Amino acid sequence: MTDEAVRQARQAVRRALRERPGAEVVVTGCAAELEHDAFAALGARMVRNDAKGLVESYGLDVKNGASTSSAQTVFEEGSLLHPFALSLSKGRLSYQPALSGADHARAFLGVQTGCSHSCTFCATVIARGSARSATIDAVTDCARIALDRGQREIVLTGVDLASYGDDSGASLAALVEALLALPVERLRLSSLDPNRIDDALFALLTTEPRVMPHVHLSLQAGDDMVLTRMKRRHRRAEVVDLVARLKAARPAIAIGADLIAGFPTEDDTMFANTLALIDECDIVFGHIFPYSARAGTPAARMPQVGRGIARERAAMLREANARRRHQWMDAQEGTTTNMLVERDGRTGHGENFASLALTAAAAPGSIVPVRIGARDGDRLAAELAQ
Ligand code: SF4
Repeated sequence: MTDEAVRQARQAVRRALRERPGAEVVVTGCAAELEHDAFAALGARMVRNDAKGLVESYGLDVKNGASTSSAQTVFEEGSLLHPFALSLSKGRLSYQPALSGADHARAFLGVQTGCSHSCTFCATVIARGSARSATIDAVTDCARIALDRGQREIVLTGVDLASYGDDSGASLAALVEALLALPVERLRLSSLDPNRIDDALFALLTTEPRVMPHVHLSLQAGDDMVLTRMKRRHRRAEVVDLVARLKAARPAIAIGADLIAGFPTEDDTMFANTLALIDECDIVFGHIFPYSARAGTPAARMPQVGRGIARERAAMLREANARRRHQWMDAQEGTTTNMLVERDGRTGHGENFASLALTAAAAPGSIVPVRIGARDGDRLAAELAQ
């Protein structure tokens, strides 16, 4: 959770209190854990993460397993949970999918929260608890809502998406197959742990045309010593091999990656290994951040490389990533793709997630065939194709 996310969450809580006088506003999730006093001061009911699965935490009057109260607004990580969020099961609140609003042409569908790993730099487990998944039925119900609204692309999200189903015996591949049984035209997956792409998921990513050719990997570093100290579960060579296999099976796949620069103890050679990974894995979409210590994490107690060096290295990674992305975009000139048109009727994304700008407006939310033109910065021109 970033400072900006906390600011937005505070704003949302204030607005809810203003717009619904008399209603109780509940704050839970990272905010309740890490910024407890600031939210409590606004007048919200605070529910700690380890208690958010308990009915009593919400002051609900429960009789025979059913809630008699619904006059609550529940926030988690700054977003309003789906109205189904308070579903009861033997006195516990089960994790329910969180569906975004209709403000984007794409629907973001949170299917999982929490994480059962313990990467040494990450405060997620402290803040959000262990991994919990929504059921396949609950996710497909939410997907139907998005489809009824006319949203033609669904993006599956989660704190540790690839671990979907670990707590229930399901799997991400089984969830994707269930969603593909609906009339979903485009399905996109957010960040995946490379170590958890099994054969079934690999087959869906590489052979299913409605699963978009865009794979975002949670890599964090490209050096084995750094990966070990991060307590990540993959090694550099495995990722290089995975990307080679993905691209051999489906050359259109665009690769994205999360990367951290300046992890404690990272020296020039280790950093060079991460930098080289951008070209070796053809990473065109980078989420790149300088390392910053999180209180209470093991990495915060390791020898730090310094904020200045971390920022410099992050800038080098971003520059290498932009160069790679621009080469990839330039190579698309003259090709065709199907574009999902955003609400402004002008911008949107191709199947490979390239950012496109139409030369003439099209219906917001539609999927249109386009011919790709020249690049302007991080956007490609797109002309409606016949
Ligand atoms: S970095 Fe990701 S996988 Fe690691 S502990 Fe945090 S949420 Fe879990």
